[in-house]
Amino acid sequence: MRGVSHLAFVALGANLADPLAQVRAAAAALADLPESRLRQVSSLYRTAPLGIRGQPDFINAVAALETWLDPQQLLDALFAVERRFGRRREFHHAPRTLDLDLLLYEERVLDSPRLRVPHPRMHLRAFVIAPLLEIAPLCRIPGRGTAAAWLPAVSQQAIEKLDAGGWQCLR
Ligand code: AMP
Repeated sequence: MRGVSHLAFVALGANLADPLAQVRAAAAALADLPESRLRQVSSLYRTAPLGIRGQPDFINAVAALETWLDPQQLLDALFAVERRFGRRREFHHAPRTLDLDLLLYEERVLDSPRLRVPHPRMHLRAFVIAPLLEIAPLCRIPGRGTAAAWLPAVSQQAIEKLDAGGWQCLR
């Protein structure tokens, strides 16, 4: 791995087939991404599903990666992990085995249908803002100010922190 590395944040979410185990296994899979190092993973959070009612709760977390991939290569690598976990894409907001979203890639702003960074709805989701602030309290979302400033906007969303802290990787 040569040249300059980049800091990226990825959201993990699952609400089917033992989602706790899925998110833990997904975090382990992120440690094996090509040209990347997993730096930190937040605690796991349980959240009520947005959009469609009657779905199981979600388990969510946020991971920090150091990567030598460009944003599109990183997204493709995340899709490959999703596919390995047997993700189904039946309809928008459908229950999913594993969902990985690229939240932030340095201070980069990208706006194509295939890849929008910062993730366009990340600042409106408690299940992103809470775990993100846990591992990156001073984090800024390009175009939207600090992540912390969005806490009041998501404070009505039900979210429960499940374990006492994530882990850090200082390889
Ligand atoms: P979803 O089913 O909500 O996970 O959306 C997946 C679709 O959103 C894919 O077609 C991606 O190419 C597109 N997409 C755009 N920006 C992002 C992003 N930052 N992270 C993940 N998927 C993205």
